Amino acid sequence: MQNPLLGVLITEVPIALKYGIVGAILGHEIGHTIIVQNLTDGFYPYFSEDVKNCIQDQFSETCRIYKEYNCTVEDKNFDENGSDIFGFPFAFERLKQIMGEKIHDKIPGSRLGLTHAQAYFHLVFSIGCWPHDVFQVSWIPHSASNIRTNAGVIQSPEFENVFNCPKNSRMVQSRKQFCHVLGEDAPQN
Ligand SMILES: [Zn+2]
Repeated sequence: MQNPLLGVLITEVPIALKYGIVGAILGHEIGHTIIVQNLTDGFYPYFSEDVKNCIQDQFSETCRIYKEYNCTVEDKNFDENGSDIFGFPFAFERLKQIMGEKIHDKIPGSRLGLTHAQAYFHLVFSIGCWPHDVFQVSWIPHSASNIRTNAGVIQSPEFENVFNCPKNSRMVQSRKQFCHVLGEDAPQN
């Protein structure tokens, strides 16, 4: 099978698909440069107890609703959890900056009739289909794949509008609150 990471880099693939995998992963990795629990790592650390609690609460709630087999939210998962909650909405915002309102147009030729914004989230969800044990190794304690994607994308303020999710849908209900990691709404660290 062709590696999906390489497949989306083909020039003619719509940019929303590239952002949905490569952009989301880069967003996650950028998250690692500011969400660092271990202050000896040499990065510039961002640390706020409020944000930490918000991130871990979101993962706990997503686990409660979407648990498949393994769902623990521990301190050791914080860096990875925070990078997902920062990174997946961050990549969507960058895509929106590039595309503007066109992000809500249908992708020409899309068999599923997806808009660019919907395609972005579909590709992020595809990360959740990767085998859990790819990510859950002792030295990189990611949460379970399906939990990562659900907790990360629901922190995008536009998610429910993009899919017309009712307020009482499971996904919308799974959002505890928005976790403001950076920006004017973020708490002081
Ligand atoms: Zn990571």
